[in-house]
Amino acid sequence: MGVVMRANCEGCDYNKSFYLGAGLTFRDLTSVKAIFADTVTKEIDSYIGQFDFDAEYVLALCEKCNKLAQVAKITIKPHDGDSAVVYNLCECGSRSVREIPAHNKIDCPKCGIPVGLEQSGKWS
Ligand SMILES: [Zn+2]
Ligand SMILES: [Zn+2]
Repeated sequence: MGVVMRANCEGCDYNKSFYLGAGLTFRDLTSVKAIFADTVTKEIDSYIGQFDFDAEYVLALCEKCNKLAQVAKITIKPHDGDSAVVYNLCECGSRSVREIPAHNKIDCPKCGIPVGLEQSGKWS
């Protein structure tokens, strides 16, 4: 089950909810791949052969457009070799997304003051 985390800035009108974690369909590779942009799906497919994976939404900051967003992340665990982490693109199309721990305070992307994250619900 995933959690809904809400950022509500006291300094400006920034108010956004992020759906983080994994939903019920996140165990199925076909459903997971449907979330990702085509270029990223191709990269996932390049891990030839059998692999296990974990998929979830994480909170991430795009270094290009400076927006905070929920970004899909897949950790690919090949049966031989090192595991690899692949992030989806930001909605602006950039790959420069940086994962942010969702239990930390974040800097408001509009006015810059620290904003707490609160769990406001669950999703599945
Ligand atoms: Zn972006
Ligand atoms: Zn703000």
